[in-house]
Amino acid sequence: MKVTDHIKNANGKTLFSFEIIPPKKGSNIDELYRNIDPLMEFDPPFIDVTTSREEYVYIQKDDLLERKITRMRPGTVGICAAIKHKYDVDTIPHVLCGGFTREETEYLLVDCHYLGIDNVMALRGDAMKHQRYFEKTEGGHEYASDLVKQIRDLREGKYLHDTAEAGAMADFCVGVAGYPEKHLEAPSLESDLKKLKLKVDMGADYVVTQMFFRNEAFFEFVDKARAMGITVPIIPGIKPIAVKKHLQLLPQVFKIDLPEELISEVEKCSTNKEVRQVGVEWCIQQSRELKEAGVPVLHYYSMGKSDNIKDIASALF
Ligand code: FAD
Repeated sequence: MKVTDHIKNANGKTLFSFEIIPPKKGSNIDELYRNIDPLMEFDPPFIDVTTSREEYVYIQKDDLLERKITRMRPGTVGICAAIKHKYDVDTIPHVLCGGFTREETEYLLVDCHYLGIDNVMALRGDAMKHQRYFEKTEGGHEYASDLVKQIRDLREGKYLHDTAEAGAMADFCVGVAGYPEKHLEAPSLESDLKKLKLKVDMGADYVVTQMFFRNEAFFEFVDKARAMGITVPIIPGIKPIAVKKHLQLLPQVFKIDLPEELISEVEKCSTNKEVRQVGVEWCIQQSRELKEAGVPVLHYYSMGKSDNIKDIASALF
């Protein structure tokens, strides 16, 4: 079922969902199941599965270090199919511009259609680690809005090549990313919101936000988006702080602000067990306020660990 239908059917009740990361190449899917199992009691209508783009790795070959390009966590669509089948839940593969040609994207969407996947999340992806800026993959898309357009064209039966015998594809429900504290490359929040509007105008059906730790940022973002004519559901993405290192890492990687009160609570902790508890309590408070404000879904970034998400969900759902 489409995310937008899940939201409609909930009649104003806030739903619980989460995002998982595929295991590293060579590991077993059982580890993933062990993290999903404890969260299923909260009845998620859908689970997102991220996609990692390729990166350069260095492999020792005789006396030389050889540079190879590889994807460390492949298998998003296969994992979506496995989880969908095992738990009878909707799964949402993240589809990237970076690292994929338009043909590869089309094949991936055809696979999703065969597998009965009804939703996809359309994203640009980040620059590769050695790059300063995102560079479009040859034959791929530059912006997520272009990818949304490709998905919309496919719904109408417009394949990239010869369409004579091809039928229309699944009418995918398309999610896109939004940034309450603006995307790191955007010159201003207003400029970033205009690009979000473009993604919606191209056919996106809902927005999931980047993590944030101050709800005011989310509420202001939603107000500005609505004022700009973005009417689709906006789902807050939330992550609990779990280790002290997150104080540096999260602002550095995602260009988000951490509130002073949260920083000082974390700094007082002497073990990561205490940090985890501070993160859980902050996240419960945040989630409670968002739920009272009537957000359609609370979407958690599990980053491969479900124990803290379970503690948060137990307090709310
Ligand atoms: P876009 O919407 O294309 O925007 C990128 C930048 O370009 C923004 O600064 C925007 O303002 C600007 N822009 C957009 N359109 C135009 C235009 N036409 N002209 C000029 N400027 C423009 N990354 C992964 O690698 N894998 C994942 O699975 C993944 N999942 C994510 C899930 C969520 C909910 C979120 C919020 C992010 C996720 N990301 C993921 C990270 C995402 O790929 C990065 O944040 C990326 O840098 C931007 O992606 P986007 O889809 O927002 O890009």
